[in-house]
Amino acid sequence: MQRMMTAALLLGLGVSSVACNEENATSDLSWGHLQDQSLSPNAPHFLITKKPGDTYKVCVPQYMIDELPGVEEEIEAAINVWGSYLGRSIPVDIHIRNLPRATARDTPGSLQTTYYNICGQDFDAVMGFAPLGGKTVGQTGTSWRGISAQQITSFKRYLFLRDYKLSPDAWGSTRWVSLQDLRKRTYRSEDILAQMQARNTTEVAPHGATISLPVLVHEFGHVWGLCDQYEGPSNCDPGHISAHPDLSSMMASASSVAKLYLTDDDITGIRLLAKRPGFNSQWPGTADDLLKTPQPVTKKEVEVFKLKKVEKVGTQYTLHFGLITSKGGELRFEYRPKGSYGTWQTSKTLFPADKGFMMPDYFFRHTAPDGEDYEFRLRLRLLKDGFALGEPMYTSL
Ligand SMILES: [Zn+2]
Repeated sequence: MQRMMTAALLLGLGVSSVACNEENATSDLSWGHLQDQSLSPNAPHFLITKKPGDTYKVCVPQYMIDELPGVEEEIEAAINVWGSYLGRSIPVDIHIRNLPRATARDTPGSLQTTYYNICGQDFDAVMGFAPLGGKTVGQTGTSWRGISAQQITSFKRYLFLRDYKLSPDAWGSTRWVSLQDLRKRTYRSEDILAQMQARNTTEVAPHGATISLPVLVHEFGHVWGLCDQYEGPSNCDPGHISAHPDLSSMMASASSVAKLYLTDDDITGIRLLAKRPGFNSQWPGTADDLLKTPQPVTKKEVEVFKLKKVEKVGTQYTLHFGLITSKGGELRFEYRPKGSYGTWQTSKTLFPADKGFMMPDYFFRHTAPDGEDYEFRLRLRLLKDGFALGEPMYTSL
């Protein structure tokens, strides 16, 4: 069920080329930042170098807005959640254009060229959906020109999400879902930012979908200048790794569970980057801002308990559900003929657990005894006092 979130970082096309390397740099900053000579205080293609008042200008295709309603607000929040832990706020200027969908022959590089030709050259990034291989759900990359990596005169950057139409994944994901679509209400970027800063929300995607916001936050983490920090060989800077690997971090591999907040590890990472010599970027009050304690992460007893979808094929029903809780207990489903308002029958099938449930996308199967239509609900009883089961809680469609 684990869905890896990875991104290749393609660097230094243009005058010189620097790939992610194995060099074991020594530093007292034990963190994963890009071991990339172009990540300097003068490198304009990293968000960490934005100065107060500088605008981040993004070109977004109309088709992305159509498929992900409210994605403009998510982009703005995904950029600014990182900055918020540095006391920085980046104005985001989003231009929507009629950009063509990628074809199967496109690479991220070719799509970047096409999009810059239509958008114009003065954008910080072009975005869209691109065919991506393997387990990759999002990818960002840059190319630049200049006298040296320290004197870059122009650059291009893409930030693409996987095009599920062109590259279906092995887990059955077929589409993206935005926060607005997921919750059937609109959000301003300030709302999304405030929710992420509250650090208390976990979501799971509907069956067959991937939530866009955490992938955008992860990819913009790269744009700020962070690596996939914790992942051994795929860490683009093994010389600067976290002393306390946290696999639930936004910048680590991710699962289909969407934590809508940065972990302490993520926040330490972006702050250590901002503390590197020369990266203050003329922001006032930075030293104090770097010391501010973030809102502590608070988790509900049951983070997710959701019947997502019931599929019927012949007499067989498949109940897709998500359940995340650190408490043990017993999960069953209940059923009755649709519209009967009769007594619920409790399933013999159950998931018992002593140490909690981590089931973001699982299913029950049930074969109905006859041709009738059935309705279903899930029944969860958590362990109370270590052994007895507490009162049941229910969720239905
Ligand atoms: Zn990544």
